Amino acid sequence: MSELDTFGTFFLPGPTEVRQEVLDAMRGPMLPHRGAAFESLFAGLQSGLRGIFRTSRPVYVSSSSATGLMEAAIRCSPPGPILAMINGAFSERFAQIARACEREVVELTTPWGEIADLSRVEMLLSSRAFSAVTVVHSETSTGALTSLPPLVTLAHQYGAAVLVDSVTGLAGSPVETDAWDIDFVLTGSQKALAMPPGLAFGVASQSFLANAPRGVSRGLYFDLVEFEQYVRKNQTPNTPALSLLYAAAEQCAHIAAETIEARWARHAAMASTTHQWVTTLAAQTYQPFSVVAPAGARSPTVTAIRIPDGLTGDAIVRAVAARGFVIGSGYGQLKSRTFRIGHMGDHTVHGLRRCLDATADAIGEVLKAR
Ligand SMILES: *Cc1c(COP(=O)(O)O)cnc(C)c1O
Repeated sequence: MSELDTFGTFFLPGPTEVRQEVLDAMRGPMLPHRGAAFESLFAGLQSGLRGIFRTSRPVYVSSSSATGLMEAAIRCSPPGPILAMINGAFSERFAQIARACEREVVELTTPWGEIADLSRVEMLLSSRAFSAVTVVHSETSTGALTSLPPLVTLAHQYGAAVLVDSVTGLAGSPVETDAWDIDFVLTGSQKALAMPPGLAFGVASQSFLANAPRGVSRGLYFDLVEFEQYVRKNQTPNTPALSLLYAAAEQCAHIAAETIEARWARHAAMASTTHQWVTTLAAQTYQPFSVVAPAGARSPTVTAIRIPDGLTGDAIVRAVAARGFVIGSGYGQLKSRTFRIGHMGDHTVHGLRRCLDATADAIGEVLKAR
């Protein structure tokens, strides 16, 4: 089968399907990473990434998965307790990382699928001085999207930095790093960017970086001060995953050609197609299928769908796989009660409809067998 026949079958909420040209780009030659050819590759990648992050700051490129830069964000936060906003598995993970780095963590827990009430955040922020607030922009485990600008404004009023995991937000949902004054925002290559897994990208504001040297245990591999020193020379502190950098540069060119605004719009259209499909599915099956995240706080890149009693996410995922499509089962607390569709990366509404048709057909079969 040619690529055209197969692209559009893999709707996991990460990793996401990677276009053939990007996979092919990984065959580029090995280069010394202290030299002109590498620096020119890296400079090109920088300009593409800055357009995607909407920043004039340098974009750090880490040869790690996204978790590496979550750890960097914690390690480079100034001394003081961390306020962890938790509303799903990945935001819980951010808190775990902070504790593993021996930081004092205060958790603000909101039921999974929902988003935090800012008045509760303010109550905690006003109770003592926090170093930073951690937040997951798009909670991949539930499909809930937290609005960033009001949170950043609030945290800054109380002198706390905001550390944003936008792993399934960035490149699918609008993120204005500079205009929103985000202190640190990170993503991974394998989600809405639709690059192969293995790279993480992050941007630190000037003031976050200026305070980073106060971080008492910055370690070495994830020290943002080091990243900043090297990115200025169009280099990375250590040997980069060069083949992945070739892929990233190729994909940045595709994203620039589409424009980031058109990419955001395409993701919004895929999300609303999925939400409408859930409504239709519930009506046609007389079953309580519903979108987990409330209207107004839904991620453009991933939808978690609540399933009726007596069905399991795994059974649905298996029946969909038998029809040639890959979707995700539930995650964490919602594992058996939901399934998830990742509508992110380079997918189209047209391709997504084929997956949704197959999923509806699969659900019909699973319901009959119940
Ligand atoms: C996938 C994901 C991560 C973890 O990324 P890795 O690349 O596996 O380290 C973190 N946060 C969110 C919201 C994610 O979706």
